[in-house]
Amino acid sequence: MPKSVYKRILIKFSGEALKGDRSFGVDPAATSTIAAQIKEVVELEIQIAVVIGGGNIFRGMAASRQGMDRVTADNMGMLATVMNALALQHSLEEIGVATRVQTAIEMRQIAEPYIRRRAIRHLETGRVVIFAAGTGSPYFTTDSTAALRASEIDAEAILKATKVDGIYTADPKVEPDAKRYDTLTFQEALEKRLKVMDSTAFSLCMDNSIPIIVFDFGNPESLPRILQGHPCGTLVTN
Ligand code: UDP
Repeated sequence: MPKSVYKRILIKFSGEALKGDRSFGVDPAATSTIAAQIKEVVELEIQIAVVIGGGNIFRGMAASRQGMDRVTADNMGMLATVMNALALQHSLEEIGVATRVQTAIEMRQIAEPYIRRRAIRHLETGRVVIFAAGTGSPYFTTDSTAALRASEIDAEAILKATKVDGIYTADPKVEPDAKRYDTLTFQEALEKRLKVMDSTAFSLCMDNSIPIIVFDFGNPESLPRILQGHPCGTLVTN
C-alpha cells in the first residue's frame, strides 16, 4: 500500500463496534477484526490512538432516563469503556501490536493513568494508545473524548468508524431517500444538528481545526483509501 498522507491519527470506535452480532457485550471476533485493521495502519508507520466507547455495555443517559442518578450512570458508562479498551488491547497484543491503555479514571493495577506527554511518547515509539474512561467526567461522550484527546496529542484527523458509509441527510435505514454528504463544514454539521457526533465534539474539532472523517468500518477498503488521502465517507472540516 502506498504511504499514508497522515502521520498521526485518532480512530474513534463506538462500543457497538465491539459487540458484533451480539445484542450486548464484547464479541471476540469483532475485536479481532478491528485489531487486524489497526495492525495494517500501524504497519504503514502511522501513529495511531484509539478512543473507545461503551454503548455495548452501558450508557449513562439511558440509565438516567430510567431513574438512575446521572453522574453515577455516567461513571458506570466510563467504566464500560475501560472493559472495551482491555478487550481491544488483548486482541491487538495477540497479533503482535504493542499497545498501552491509558485511562482518565485512575486504576493503576490495570492501566496507565492518562498522561499526555507519555501518550505522545508511546505513539512516537510505535505503540497504539487506547484512551479509556472517556474524559473522566460525567455529562460527556466518547465522541467529545475523541475530539479532546485528538486536540491534546495533535492528531491530524479523527476517523470515526461507523456502520454506515458517512453522514446522511437522515437515517438511511429509516429514510431510503436520504442522501450522503461527501463533505460538510463544522458549521453546517452544527446547524443541521446532524446526529453523528454531539455538538461538543464538533465544536472542539472546529476550534482546533481537526478534520473528522466518518466512514464505514465494515468495508475493509475504507481505511486504506482514507489513509492514502482519497475521498471516502464524509469529511467534516472548517
Ligand atoms: N461517558 C462519560 N464521560 C465521558 C465519556 C463517556 O460520562 O467523557 C459515559 C456516558 O455515560 C456514556 C458512556 O460513558 O453514555 C459510554 O460512552 P458513549 O455513549 O460515548 O459510547 P459509544 O456510544 O461511543 O459506544
